[in-house]
Amino acid sequence: MADKLTRAITKDGFFKISAVVSTETVEQSRKFHNSSPVATAALGRLLTAGLLMGGELKEDNAKLTLQMSGDGPLGRVIVSANSKGEVKGYAENPQIDMPLNEKGKLDVGGAIGKGTLSVIKDLGLKEPYIGQVAIQTGEVGDDLAYYFMQSEQVPSVVALGVLVDRDFSVKCAGGFIIQVMPECNDESLTMLENSIAGIMSVTEMLSQGMDGADMIKYAMLGFDTEILEESEVGYVCDCSRERMERAIVSLGKAEIDAIIKEQGQAEIVCSFCNKPYVFNTEELEAMRDRARDTK
Ligand SMILES: [Zn+2]
Repeated sequence: MADKLTRAITKDGFFKISAVVSTETVEQSRKFHNSSPVATAALGRLLTAGLLMGGELKEDNAKLTLQMSGDGPLGRVIVSANSKGEVKGYAENPQIDMPLNEKGKLDVGGAIGKGTLSVIKDLGLKEPYIGQVAIQTGEVGDDLAYYFMQSEQVPSVVALGVLVDRDFSVKCAGGFIIQVMPECNDESLTMLENSIAGIMSVTEMLSQGMDGADMIKYAMLGFDTEILEESEVGYVCDCSRERMERAIVSLGKAEIDAIIKEQGQAEIVCSFCNKPYVFNTEELEAMRDRARDTK
C-alpha cells in the first residue's frame, strides 16, 4: 500500500482534520473495473472518502460501507473500508460515458443522480450503525458533508478530487475532511471559513505536489495544527474461494441443483476486483450437500 493518510488536530482541539493522497488506490480501482473517466472519478471520490472515514474508526475490526444509490446511469456505487486503511469498491455500470458538465468537468453528479446515501458502520457490536440521507448534488463531497451534518450533527468540510489523465489513467486523487468539534467557538469557525474560502481544489493541490500534511497546513492557514498519525492505505480486495463458496452455499439446495442441471459449473466474478472463481459439478454437489433445504 503506497498511498498515505494523515490525521491531525488543531492544538486548541476545535478541529479534527484527515487528509489522504489516494492516487494509487483510485488507479488500482480503475484497472480492476476498467472504468470510464466519469466512473473512475465518481468511484474514486467515494473510495477516497472511505479511506478518510475508515481512518476515524477506532475499533480493530471495525468496517464502514458507503453506498450511493442514485437514479443516474452509473447505478449503485458501493465502497467498503476498514480501520486498517484498506478500501475496495465498485459501481454497477463502470463503463458509462457521459458528456462533460456545464463547467467542462466530468459529470459525477449526473452519473450518480438523485437518491440516497447510506453510511453503515459495523463496530463489532450487535447492530451496525446506519445513517441515511438524500443525495444533494451527487458530487460525493457535498453529499458527505450533508450526511455529517444531518446524521452525526458534525459540521464538516469535505473536499474530494480525482483527476483523470488523457489516457484515462488516474493522474492524481485525494481529499480531506475538516470536522468542527462541539467546543469550537465562533471566532475560530469564522477563521476556518476565511481560510477555506477560495482555496485551490484538491486536484490543484495534488498537482502542485502537496501531500496530506501539506494539504492540512494549506487548508488550515493560521491554525496551529498537530499531526497525530500517518499511515499507509490502499486498495485491498479480500475475496477468496472460501468466501465465494459460502455465497453459493447460502443460495440453498434447490438453487444449486438448478445451476448444476443448467450449467454444470458456476463462475462467480468478484464485484470488487473482477477475479473469476470457477466451481465444477463435483464441487457444486458438495456445496449442495452442505446447503440448506429451500422451499
Ligand atoms: Zn475480489
